[in-house]
Amino acid sequence: MRIAFLGLGHMGLPMATNLAGAGHEVVGFDVAQPARDAGRAAGLEVAESGPAAVATGVQVVITMFQTGAQVLDAYRGIDGAPGLLETAEPDTLFIDCSTIAVDDARAVHALAEQAGHRSVDAPVSGGVVGAENATLAFMVGGSDDDFAAAQPLLEAMGRRVVHCGGAGLGQAAKVCNNMILAVSQIAVAEAFVLGEKLGLDHQALFDVASNASGQCWALTTNCPVPGPVPTSPANRDYAPGFAGVLMDKDLGLAEHAVTSSGVSARMGMLARELYREFASGPGAGQDFSGIINTIRAESAHA
Ligand code: NAD
Repeated sequence: MRIAFLGLGHMGLPMATNLAGAGHEVVGFDVAQPARDAGRAAGLEVAESGPAAVATGVQVVITMFQTGAQVLDAYRGIDGAPGLLETAEPDTLFIDCSTIAVDDARAVHALAEQAGHRSVDAPVSGGVVGAENATLAFMVGGSDDDFAAAQPLLEAMGRRVVHCGGAGLGQAAKVCNNMILAVSQIAVAEAFVLGEKLGLDHQALFDVASNASGQCWALTTNCPVPGPVPTSPANRDYAPGFAGVLMDKDLGLAEHAVTSSGVSARMGMLARELYREFASGPGAGQDFSGIINTIRAESAHA
């Protein structure tokens, strides 16, 4: 099976490399020359011309871009140039792993279907480390048949592949999960700052909450203070990890979904505000758990 993999960035390059390592014939492409060079340095076959040309003669097209607009542009083509949908053979399987809005994902599915192709949305969690170690979690939206076709490929790049339902529901699962994560990371950070003010030792709070009802990933894996979890970003001055700017991006997608569905998500939308401030200010280059420093600074002036 020959697979075109477009978007050889932080996530895409290790994912494509794992796919090739699992024995698939992968041809990569990125619009950025440095990313193409990095792909070749990693031992991948990389096309020089694209994006559409790379979809010729393949059975599967995988995309891993930053935004929905990039995915839509690549699928449709821009400035009169043919897009991936036009150049691919009929019945090609399109797998979009980018994190994009549910509405954009559904538009992508509709375009693929109209062009006579199959498609799934398959965003990931697990970050760059998960991409490198092939331990990503994939959340997949699409028909049963298209999911079944995509599953073995996704399993070569990840550890957990969940079929969440029809078109766009992989993105829906991603946006819901990250809204939980944002709220819980802020809650954990607030609790540690409150504990500090009350004279409670970080380790003591961790030992209690990690074995009690406060237990959550934001505490036990991404603990926002140095010490209790030696691998958490707090131990390396909040170097990401999962960058605050990416959380800000994902919460923008959550806000879009919350607004368009009319759901009352006051905690989620407050987290959206706090992360927008964090990502455009001191947290621009930090892991999202670094928001504890904002909370501490605000507390000092209270
Ligand atoms: P990135 O910016 O490092 O990589 C995206 C790549 O896509 C870039 O190299 C860009 O040049 C390329 N690109 C854009 N348009 C293209 C086109 N038409 N043809 C070919 N290449 C094109 O981004 P990333 O960190 O790899 O993230 C990719 C996606 O994964 C994002 O949607 C992000 O939200 C999501 N994600 C990232 C992480 C993470 O930790 N980085 C974790 C989970 C999910």
